[in-house]
Amino acid sequence: MIVHADLDAFYAAVEQRRRPELQGKPVAVGGAGPRGVVMSASYEARAHGVGGGMPTVRARRLCPELVMVAPDMDEYAVVSANVMAVLHAFARRVEPVSMDEAYLDLAGVGIRPRAFAELLRSRVREEQDLALSVGVGPTKLVAKLASVAAKPDGMVVVPQADVEAFLRPLAADRLPGVGPKTAEALTRFGLLTVGDLADTPHDTLRRIVGAAAGDMLAHYARGEDARPVVPQRGEKSVGGERTFPADVSAEHELIRTTLLGLAQSNAARLRAAKLSGRTVTVKVRFADLRTVTRSRTLPEPVDLAHDIFAAALPLFAGLVPTRARIRLVGLRVEGLDAEARPTQLALGEREVGWSELERTVDRVQARFGAAAVRPASLIGKSGEARKLLRPEGR
Ligand SMILES: [Mg+2]
Repeated sequence: MIVHADLDAFYAAVEQRRRPELQGKPVAVGGAGPRGVVMSASYEARAHGVGGGMPTVRARRLCPELVMVAPDMDEYAVVSANVMAVLHAFARRVEPVSMDEAYLDLAGVGIRPRAFAELLRSRVREEQDLALSVGVGPTKLVAKLASVAAKPDGMVVVPQADVEAFLRPLAADRLPGVGPKTAEALTRFGLLTVGDLADTPHDTLRRIVGAAAGDMLAHYARGEDARPVVPQRGEKSVGGERTFPADVSAEHELIRTTLLGLAQSNAARLRAAKLSGRTVTVKVRFADLRTVTRSRTLPEPVDLAHDIFAAALPLFAGLVPTRARIRLVGLRVEGLDAEARPTQLALGEREVGWSELERTVDRVQARFGAAAVRPASLIGKSGEARKLLRPEGR
C-alpha cells in the first residue's frame, strides 16, 4: 500500500500557527498588490470561494474580511523540512513531491495502513501543530485521490477491493492529465465521471482524446498506476530564489538579507535531510533580464547557513558590478552527500560555535516554529523589506 500525505492549506496554516490572532479567520498568503495572486488560502477563506492561483483582487471581492499575509518562504522551507523529517522517521521509502506533500511506501513497514496513517497524522499534529491529510491506496493515483477526499484534516484508506467503488463517482477531471481541453472533449461524449471512463471501450477513449492520453485514462479509470515510490533522501541539490517586484540596487541591504535568508533555509533543509553539500552557486538576474551564475566548490562539505552565506557573498560580489540593478537572486547548494558529514575539527573552534548554535536553533524551531529564532538581520524584515520579497519556485 502507498500513502499520500498532504498538509492542509500549508502556507496559510503556518501563518495561522505562528499568529494566533489569525486562527479561525479567513487568511490568504500571497501578493497584496493590484496584480497579486493568492498562493494558499485557509479553509475559512475557502468557504468564501477563495482559492490558490486566484487574483488577490478577486479574492478580496469574494471575501472582504480576508486577511492577506505576505509569503515567508524561509519559514515554510524550515517547517517543511521538519515535517519531512517526521515522515522519514516512519518509513524508509519517502518521496517528497513538493514542500507539503509526499508519498510513502508501506512495504516492509509492518503496521496496518489505517494505524500507520493515524500515527502519522497525530505525530505531525503533536510535533508541528499542523493538519496532515492522509490517503492510502494500492497505487500512487488512488492514494493521492484518497488524500484529496480526506481533506480537511482527515484520512481515507482505500483497500484494493474498494478501489472501483471509490473511483467511479469521482469527476473525470480529477484524474491527473485531464486538463480543461481533455475534460471538454470527454464532456462532449457524455463522459463525466471516472466510472463513465471505466465503462468506455479503450479504443473509443483513444479516438476521443488521442492514443497516449486514451491509454493513460483507461488505466487511471481502474486505479492502475505503475509509478513506484522513489525515495528521495538523495536530493541532488537544495536551493531557492527570490524575485524583487522592483529592481534593487546591488548595494542595498536587502540583497544581503535575502542571501542570508536563502542560506538559512537551504541549511535547514540540508540538516533536516542529514545531508551536507560542497558546491555553492549564486544566481543573479539583472534588471535587463540577463542571468548569470557562479559556483564555488568548498574544501569541506557544509550544512550551516553561516558557511553557505560566507561562500555566497564573495560569489555575488564577483558577479555583480556595484551599481547594477538586480531583479532576482538565487542560492543553491549542490554536490550533496549523506556520508560526508561536515568535519568541524578542520574548521576550527569558531565554526564549532556556529554549528552548535545552528543545531540548537533547529531544535528550537522544530518545537516553536521558525519565527522563534532567526539571525538578527532577519528580524524586523516584516516591514519594508518583506514587502519587496516575492518568492519563486522552491
Ligand atoms: Mg497541501
